[in-house]
Amino acid sequence: MTAVKSWNGEEYSGLGYDFDPQWLLSPEQQILQAKLIDLCATVLRPNAIESDRGLIYPRQNFEALASLGLLGLFVPKEWGGLGENHVCAAMVVETIARYGCPSTAMCYTMHLGATAAALFRAHDNPELQQLLQRLDQDVLIGTLSYSDPETGSHFWYPVSSKADRCADGWMVSKKASWTTSAGFADWYIVQTTSPDFDGNYSDLSCFLIYGDEVKAEPHKWDALGLRGNQSGTLQVDGVTVPFERMVGPKGDGTASNDEIVDPFFLLCSSACWNGIAMGAIDIAKRHVTRKKHVDVGMRVADYPTIQDYFGEAIIDTNACRSFTFTMGKLMDDLTQQCDWSLHEDLTALPRSTYLPWYWQIKFAAAKNVAHVCDKMLHACGGSGFKKDMEIERYLRDGKAGWVMGPTNEVLRQFVGKLALLGFESLDYWNQTVNDRVLHNEVKKLDAEGKRKLAAMLLDQAAAEDEKGMVQPLSVV
Ligand SMILES: Cc1cc2nc3c(=O)[nH]c(=O)nc-3n(C[C@H](O)[C@H](O)[C@H](O)COP(=O)(O)OP(=O)(O)OC[C@H]3O[C@@H](n4cnc5c(N)ncnc54)[C@H](O)[C@@H]3O)c2cc1C
Repeated sequence: MTAVKSWNGEEYSGLGYDFDPQWLLSPEQQILQAKLIDLCATVLRPNAIESDRGLIYPRQNFEALASLGLLGLFVPKEWGGLGENHVCAAMVVETIARYGCPSTAMCYTMHLGATAAALFRAHDNPELQQLLQRLDQDVLIGTLSYSDPETGSHFWYPVSSKADRCADGWMVSKKASWTTSAGFADWYIVQTTSPDFDGNYSDLSCFLIYGDEVKAEPHKWDALGLRGNQSGTLQVDGVTVPFERMVGPKGDGTASNDEIVDPFFLLCSSACWNGIAMGAIDIAKRHVTRKKHVDVGMRVADYPTIQDYFGEAIIDTNACRSFTFTMGKLMDDLTQQCDWSLHEDLTALPRSTYLPWYWQIKFAAAKNVAHVCDKMLHACGGSGFKKDMEIERYLRDGKAGWVMGPTNEVLRQFVGKLALLGFESLDYWNQTVNDRVLHNEVKKLDAEGKRKLAAMLLDQAAAEDEKGMVQPLSVV
């Protein structure tokens, strides 16, 4: 373990390695982390300030990350990548968010999610293989475009999207309300309902779409935090793509969501929120250990109230970091250190078994970051309220954690409902009838009301029979 954390050739003014779980990293990963901290000091952090002020997309930061081979972090070594694992991904995202630029960390999170979705189904797809081999060399930034304007944070429910088979391939239509790096990414993994869609929204497929095939509106992006992240609208307007641009087989969307998109997004975004919390603690430490009150002859750090703020913030954040890294370690154990060849068997979905655990790490990290940044601002007093200290930016950036889908409201309900009522009750695609609610409402109707309802339902059933619509799957 490196004994002293350095920053532009001097000792780092925030927390040292003694408060970082370095034992989780291999010696190579620790070297990579130290190089990345150097890059943050010289390139990413200065750019973060400009990016936030001017809503500038952090492409320059991606060029810097590519110089360390980080765009191909998960890409196998034989394809020119670093061949790294899940723990390493969590460390890299956390490091970028903490020392460099949270907007870049979120764009990079989406890039890793897209890369993982491509690697998941690349073994028999030369188009995906070629793309994955060029990521660092050509600085090819990827992202995930899932959220639909009609279904909000229920990103697994793309009602405004579709794909049809045509003579030359697939005609893809996608409307997304939010897409990190929209208009700036070089490639997108988009999710639509499957070709031959029959009304069953759990039948989803994924496609690879290139930057020159999308319409974005970056000029409309303006937000409280993560201002460089440029998560704007995206449209793929009936674009025909060759057959090999379908990522995985038709109908692979649900497997891809549960095995890849959710686990990778939740792991890496949790690391991002943890990094922002640590970054705020670092900034605040620097301030409170330097600022003096001449009347009482004490530094701000000498007040027990301030020490308590730091103690609690460090303990809570390290609990979230340990939880996040534990899930990274589990993913490594489940996949022989992120060996993509195991997915040559299309039914191999080891990560997806632990979905409720990824929900929990995101909830905890996103809840913690808002609280910690708030307390660190309090610890810095009015000085923290000003832009030059950067803590207000970390506070604004951290606020994205709670509202990013799956939102913390949705996650805590998923976990509680799952624990109390079982998996079926989550009803992602609105297919499971809640018998208790149904009967309770019907109970309120008098005989005439029941007759009216019955007549209406019989008409609807006849119309649906005619259209051949899909019926709800089950009743609880
Ligand atoms: C910075 C940022 C970057 C993003 N990047 C991407 C990206 O790269 N790709 C992408 O696909 N999407 C992205 N998103 C979109 C994100 O995943 C959500 O889809 C989006 O934040 C939802 O916003 P909304 O206004 O539609 O919220 P809504 O879904 O309308 O939520 C409004 C409120 O209702 C609550 N709510 C919603 N559903 C339920 C429920 N079932 N039970 C209880 N409460 C509920 C929410 O928690 C919230 O409090 C990004 C969002 C942000 C903020």
